[in-house]
Amino acid sequence: MPTLGGALKDLLFPPHCLGCGHRLAASRPPLLCPCCNASLTFLRSPLCSCCGRPFAAGADHLCGDCLAGHHAFDLARSLLHYRPPVSNLILALKFTGNLNGLATLRALIEREGLLAAFREPDLVLPVPLHRDRLRARGFNQALVLARECLPQWRRKIAIDVLLRHRPALPQSLLSGKERRRNLSKAFSLGQSGDRVAGTKILLIDDVYTTGSTVNECSRVLRRAGAERIEVLTVARSLAPGILP
Ligand SMILES: [Zn+2]
Ligand SMILES: [Zn+2]
Repeated sequence: MPTLGGALKDLLFPPHCLGCGHRLAASRPPLLCPCCNASLTFLRSPLCSCCGRPFAAGADHLCGDCLAGHHAFDLARSLLHYRPPVSNLILALKFTGNLNGLATLRALIEREGLLAAFREPDLVLPVPLHRDRLRARGFNQALVLARECLPQWRRKIAIDVLLRHRPALPQSLLSGKERRRNLSKAFSLGQSGDRVAGTKILLIDDVYTTGSTVNECSRVLRRAGAERIEVLTVARSLAPGILP
């Protein structure tokens, strides 16, 4: 039931769809109009049982990359296909510090029951930013996402376990091979790195593109003795034609 205060606020400050800006009747997240809501593509089975890459048909199975052992993590899952309106929400979060989309992303994660895919972690690690980028941006979007979207695991979030050394070039400008080179030795253990051995880890990031960022983090964590490494990203970019 909407409260009187909530109804009054909606009347005075009418909420708008975060995708297209249309006026909405109520400010209860997700703040998406029916049209933008219908354009969301949730990533559901059939998926690669390890990295979560979606398949057009069939049952869950391992993709070629996972069969070849390319991934150092045990499981990766993303909520949505990275495209508008979700990409707009994430870009707004990342580059303009507009946090309005967080409650909407949290509501979508809850509605989809995404967390059921993951084991209860011992440590939740947001993929770190290099300190120069952190200073320029003012916040790490992966940390903000972890805090706001996983309230039940908030106490497990640790920001001094993984460190990012080099201000890597933006991955979006690079090819797959260059991405891997750009990231090699980009991460290491921070001052609380000794907490990793024998633990179940949940890595959080905003977007899974080629997986190289979370894979590099996973390699470092694996070497430090992590027992299990799972990866949650809000969205995943997909090559054209992967989904029908
Ligand atoms: Zn809309
Ligand atoms: Zn896979």
